[in-house]
Amino acid sequence: MTKERFKELMQPIADGLFGKQKPYHMQQGTPPVVRPVGMIVEDLCTISDDEWAKYAFSREPLNGKFTDEQRVELTRKAMACGREYAERVVQEQGVRDPEKLAEKLGMKVDYPRMPQSTDRVLFAEFREPNKIHIYMDGVDKGEVLFAEPGVRHALTAQLDIKKLLLGHELFHWVEEKYRKEIWTRTYRLRLWEVGPVHNDSTVMVLGEIAAMAFTQALNNLRYSPYVMDAYLVYGYSPEAASALYEEMMTFAGRTPRLPEELEPA
Ligand SMILES: [Zn+2]
Repeated sequence: MTKERFKELMQPIADGLFGKQKPYHMQQGTPPVVRPVGMIVEDLCTISDDEWAKYAFSREPLNGKFTDEQRVELTRKAMACGREYAERVVQEQGVRDPEKLAEKLGMKVDYPRMPQSTDRVLFAEFREPNKIHIYMDGVDKGEVLFAEPGVRHALTAQLDIKKLLLGHELFHWVEEKYRKEIWTRTYRLRLWEVGPVHNDSTVMVLGEIAAMAFTQALNNLRYSPYVMDAYLVYGYSPEAASALYEEMMTFAGRTPRLPEELEPA
């Protein structure tokens, strides 16, 4: 595969699923080795909460302002925030199922095939004040991949892709509702100060990390929904998904496996 062809493949998903996908292989110009999807999810499902910190922050515009220790600390806090609000909303509404929860909260959820402007692949989105779109093209492609060896075992029967996406988007509504008090919005990073004058900024990625923890809690999953970043992309481009897999594994301090390292079933 040529460098140009690879760039072409990556382009539609450059804005990714739950945030910016910045495929670093594109910068290096080397196409990744394509792995079986089962290998990808098997490995990614073992990445711990703390180990997701560097990958999550790699999508943050202010990433360069943090040390690795801070990234881990903020990731923990954002995840705790997401879980706390999940339990709170479940308590208040008396249901855990994301579809029922969305209904109780008065959300308007629809399931169109693709976004109106189809220049990129998008899996779901929240539109203020209360609309959520779940795009079925990506969901269906993900469901087809359930049949691949090792996928169901890693992702478990507990996974319902639609509900996982819905839970994530629901958190964005929650965050909006509680914007004056929710930690992901009240946390500020001091960009600079000169005497009494200073400039503080919110940190965008905290809401994304919390949204992942929120939907993980609602869906009772034992792995991070960040796994879906690579999994759902696989339905469109195994090359791009393999690049993401390498990136996630490397950020987690793991060594990405090569296809020939697959253990015989
Ligand atoms: Zn999001």
